[in-house]
Amino acid sequence: MSTFVLATANPDKATEMREILAPLGVELLARPDHVADVDETEDTLEGNALLKARALVEATGRAAIADDTGLFVDALGGRPGVHSARYAGEEASYADNVDRLLSELASVEAPRTARFVTAIVVAYPGGDWFGVEGVLEGTITTSPRGGGGFGYDPVFSPSDEDGRTLAQMTPEQKNAVSHRGRALRALAEKLGAE
Ligand code: IMP
Repeated sequence: MSTFVLATANPDKATEMREILAPLGVELLARPDHVADVDETEDTLEGNALLKARALVEATGRAAIADDTGLFVDALGGRPGVHSARYAGEEASYADNVDRLLSELASVEAPRTARFVTAIVVAYPGGDWFGVEGVLEGTITTSPRGGGGFGYDPVFSPSDEDGRTLAQMTPEQKNAVSHRGRALRALAEKLGAE
């Protein structure tokens, strides 16, 4: 069985990762409490995921898995992108970020197309690493809908679905189509092939 330390401290994400990777015999260990958060100073999702994974490898001596997600809105030149968590400021809540996004788009005539991208990086002691990516195409709605999910889910409607936002889906429905679900399945495929 292969064992990895997980960089995420978010229990929902950790559960989702375990569900997808456990059937492969992959064991995921929680991030030890003494490992501090890493400053995400790179300008790509993969670069930031690699920073987080390598910091964990260094702290634990074990292989590590880290993820980083961003929402890329075409009419805003790809913003908020790698800065999605702090779009409305350092201490911004999910609602603050959604408000800023909707107000920036209010005056824009261009289509409200956007995509969620998740990068997942696996890093090993010794320096080897690889990355996978998952993408979900969609549009930004004009107002929030739904009480599920988190982050920008209430204003993101996936293109190939029935018009609901991600926040109007059950967790299972979201995982089946989401950027993170897709990246995790790509990761499972790679690890399974090793
Ligand atoms: P992280 O890299 O997964 O922490 O994501 C950065 C930011 O992107 C979060 O703070 C959320 O605002 C947003 N985000 C990440 N994943 C999702 C998602 O699945 N739905 C909605 N927003 C998300």
